[in-house]
Parts: sequence; structure tokens; C-alpha cells
Amino acid sequence: MVYNTVMQQALIPDLSRCVLCGSCKAVCPTYELAATEGMSARGRLALVKNLSDGRLLPSPLLNDRIYSCILCGACAAVCPLGIDIPEAIYRGRRILRKSDRKRRFLRYLLRFSTTWPDLSFKLLSLSSDFLLPFLSKRKLIPFRPDLPDQPFHVIEQVHKVPKKKGRVAVFAGCSVNFFLPHLGESLINVLQALGYEVILPKDELCCGAPLRALGMDEEAAALAKQNHHVLSRLRVEAILSLCPTCTLSLRHGYASLIGKHIDKAMDISVFLRDKLEQKSPIDASITYHDPCHLRHGLGIWNEPREIIAKAGIALKEPRESGCCGFGGTFSVSYREMSEQLNKKQAAHLLETGAGTIVTSCPGCMLHLGQAVSDKPMIHLIELIEEAYCLRTLYQEPVLAQSV
Ligand code: SF4
Ligand code: SF4
Repeated sequence: MVYNTVMQQALIPDLSRCVLCGSCKAVCPTYELAATEGMSARGRLALVKNLSDGRLLPSPLLNDRIYSCILCGACAAVCPLGIDIPEAIYRGRRILRKSDRKRRFLRYLLRFSTTWPDLSFKLLSLSSDFLLPFLSKRKLIPFRPDLPDQPFHVIEQVHKVPKKKGRVAVFAGCSVNFFLPHLGESLINVLQALGYEVILPKDELCCGAPLRALGMDEEAAALAKQNHHVLSRLRVEAILSLCPTCTLSLRHGYASLIGKHIDKAMDISVFLRDKLEQKSPIDASITYHDPCHLRHGLGIWNEPREIIAKAGIALKEPRESGCCGFGGTFSVSYREMSEQLNKKQAAHLLETGAGTIVTSCPGCMLHLGQAVSDKPMIHLIELIEEAYCLRTLYQEPVLAQSV
């Protein structure tokens, strides 16, 4: 296939530039757990290069090494030569897809749920009383989500304001759409309070990241084309997402998949940081978990902290900051490693003594929530909503008071 050949040829020069310095290996969370070269960023890069060159053939062990990467991006963020290691991993997975029988059921499920998302939601809702407890008990899913009554996208598509300052769109993504719609509602609430008309694009599809993670680039490209078609026609200042994986896909992943990206896509913290006023200090202390795709993928570290400071809330930084081990399908395929990383990161956050744990990713929020069940675990947009007094009297407070 032409696409396959072009992608593989484009990959080879980039991989050849590695000087084996090992900087990427030092920050790789899976290497920290397994301490073997094949489980490190540098080792995986060498494996993908040899696979691309035809010197290595697919095998269960090779598949395991390439599919056990969390795609956190910590490696690419430190590589002095700017080698995009996660992009190499994606391409390695594409080559290995046919031989990777271990995840064939996951591929089937993802293909079904991204083709028929609403039907999948209905089926999941109908069977949630027995299916979710069964899957959770058998450790076949990383957490048992509380399904909402209806997805986020069923609400109206245009949210007007009396004195319009601007117009933005919200790309909800699957996690907000089907599991945490209240986060989308909080975002609309904050944006309207700041004078922005909000559009929810009717024909939004999954961003495609979970499919790419399973080597399903062609299926992911079909979603990317449809999303690009829908989003690039919107007359808006920005397309905001509460999920860094979605933002990373729209801004960068689509360039590899379909040769064009959506440059108006941005994380909420980038859009909101200059628009929020400074508040007086309030009686709450929080700690913040940096989602990998926000920090390493999009290079966003300062913006959420600026917002927390503007909201008048004391931030207690953890001693160490690492990956929560979610990584989408990684948490299903590599349950044990995922749990180890989750417990470790939760311990760092709890050690701060902060009353509330805040993050900017719905996936991290759900996953870390498993390990920190005795503390509120919230999204940055909920912190903003509460600190700026935008929640109704009927809503429970989300921030714990300082102790
Ligand atoms: S993306 Fe993360 S897990 Fe994968 S090789 Fe790089 S540092 Fe390791
Ligand atoms: S940091 Fe970059 S150059 Fe160094 S070993 Fe890793 S991929 Fe190679």
C-alpha cells in the first residue's frame, strides 16, 4: 500500500539520528519499572528502526515491547535531537498490527464504539448493572465509571450570551461526552460568564487517539478527516478541549495522519489564563497533577499554575511528578504496570497534604481517582467554576477547605 510505504520511508531517517545518549531512557516510566533496554524509549526506538528496515520480524515479544509504551511523550520532551519517539512507536504499532493478536478484541471494541458511539453508550448503559461490575472485578477495565443519564452532546448546540465578547467551540472528546458531561457543562458556564458564545459541533467524532494507539491509523485517519472537515469550517476564535490527548491529536497527530491539523485547537488553560481576574486568597489548598500529554506533548506547564494562582488558591507541588499510568488502552493491556504507576503518583500527590487534587485531563482524573478515593479529585475547570463563584447553590462544593 502506498500510504504504508511512504510512512515507513519517512520514518527511517528520523530514527537513524539517535546518538544513544540515553536521556530518553532516564525518564521512561516503563523502564523505571522493568529496567530492561527493550522497555525503554531508546530500546523501543532501536526496535522500531530494525522493524522498519526489515532486520526484525514481528514476534509476541517484539509486539509486547512496542505496545507496552504508554505514549506519555516524556522521552521526546528531553531528546536533544528532537526525535519524536511516540510518533515512531505509533508507526511501529501500525506495522505490527496484523501480528498483534493480544489486542484484537480491543480493536474490535474500539472500531465498534467509534463507529456507533451512541449505540455503544446505550448498550453500556443497559448492561451497566452487571457488565461494568463484572469487568471491573476481573480487572479488565482500569476503573468502573459512573455512567451519566445522557451524553454531553445531546444538549443544545449554541449557547448564546447577552453581550458577546467572542465565539468559541468546544471539542468534548469521548471522555467528557460519555463519562464526565458535567465537565463540559462547567466549561460552558465559565465561558458564558466571560462573555463567550459557545458552539458544540454537532458532528464531532472521537479524536482517533485510542485507535492510533492500537496501530489502527487508517481508521483514525477517517475520523481525523471528518473532524477536520467539521472543525475547520467553524467561525470561532478557538476550539477548546478539556482533554489534552484530544488537543494533542487535533494540533499534532492529525498532521501525521492526514497531513493537516487544526491550529485553533487549544487547551482551556491557554485560552483562559489571560481572561480570568485575580481573586483574593481563599481557604483551600490543592496539589496539581500534570497530565503527560499536556506537559510533554503540548509543552504546557505554567498556564494551569497561573490560573490556580489567579484563583487565589495555595498550590502544594508534589516532590516528584510522574505519569499516572493510565495511557488509555495501556491501562487495559498492562494492568499491573498501570496500577504501580498510579499508586506511585497518587502517593506523591497525597504526601503534599493538600485538601484537593486537581488535574487537566478527564482520563487522569478517573484513573487517579481510584488511588486517592479519600480526597476530592477534580478537573481544573471545576476549580475555576468554584473559585469564581459560578456554581449554583444546588451544586456541592468541589474544593476541600484547608485543614
Ligand atoms: S512515550 Fe513514555 S513510555 Fe513510551 S518510550 Fe517514551 S517515555 Fe517510555
Ligand atoms: S534522547 Fe534522543 S538521541 Fe538520546 S538516546 Fe533517546 S532518542 Fe537517542
